[in-house]
Amino acid sequence: MNSPTANTTNYQTSNLQLQLGFINYIQRLLVEGDFSATYKYALLHALADCAVEYPLDDERASLCIKFDSLVDKFIELYWHHATPFAGTTGTNDLLLQNAGKQSKVISELNYCQSKNIRTLNALKQSQYWHSIQKATLQTLKEGPLWRLQKLSKVDECFLYPHVKGKTFITLNPGIAHCFRRFYDLVVHLARNAWLLKIQSIKQNQHIIGAQSQLYDFLFGCDRQNLAKAVPVLFEIQKGNCFYCNKPLGNSKQVDHFIPFARYAHDLGHNFVLAHGKCNNAKRDLLAAPKFKDEWINQNLVIHEKEITKALESYFYCDAAKSLAVSDWAYDTVASSKGHFWHGLMPAINSARTDYR
Ligand SMILES: [Zn+2]
Repeated sequence: MNSPTANTTNYQTSNLQLQLGFINYIQRLLVEGDFSATYKYALLHALADCAVEYPLDDERASLCIKFDSLVDKFIELYWHHATPFAGTTGTNDLLLQNAGKQSKVISELNYCQSKNIRTLNALKQSQYWHSIQKATLQTLKEGPLWRLQKLSKVDECFLYPHVKGKTFITLNPGIAHCFRRFYDLVVHLARNAWLLKIQSIKQNQHIIGAQSQLYDFLFGCDRQNLAKAVPVLFEIQKGNCFYCNKPLGNSKQVDHFIPFARYAHDLGHNFVLAHGKCNNAKRDLLAAPKFKDEWINQNLVIHEKEITKALESYFYCDAAKSLAVSDWAYDTVASSKGHFWHGLMPAINSARTDYR
């Protein structure tokens, strides 16, 4: 029989495992989730908010969150976003929150604002409140609530189970505590990814103007320098795309093999040349292990010296360090049971659904 001390230790260990699992899962939600609108960031934010706003007796308790509470949070979060953005280019337009047409929640809120409703409180007391709540609830139920946890096409209900016909969700045991414990981190990640999503929507770029450069200026990679890697890689890869092996033609981009989002430093051996299409499809995912073997073979074994010679004036070149970073990145994804990018598959891309 276990002693009380051993039981306490077991309890602490399983809590710690849950917390690590939680952080891994949140990271995966932001990278792997397939969303064309910003709703998942809003939902993640709303869940974190709700988790700290309800009392919790026990670290392992589950938490019931009513849809009504999530709806209120959604409206609160989007309220200011429904105001035109005064960009540096003199425009005064609404920022799109969906890669396509405007998000429904934004359109509805903007309509209310056009009726001279200036504050959230005024909205709550207005004739529009009921219909806004209804429309937001419908949006929430149709998309983000079940779609949030759909990673790489599979439902992984780590946060809450999907139950039909209910008016609430129940966070799994211990999840509310994790949201409370890591509230700042979750909110920071959600807001940051949200901002990047808005910036990435083409139609927004003329509205945001020069400010769209801000994030890159602070944290991004040096795009001008990246071009220096094109000639040597083009020669090594014999003019073909690293991923699909087809001729590059005019569509060539320098890809960070270990994505810049995961390791924000430029190492000379970490570049491959890919089609814009392949590069964009890979996004911030790690390429499947078979690509890692090919990358090692190409950049760290056969052409290591050639790459160093061509790029050492522009980038830090150290094949051993590149290998160590790649091992760390692949271990992290493997141990978190994350998903890899397996190459461009048109059937999967066409299955993408837009949620408004
Ligand atoms: Zn390609």
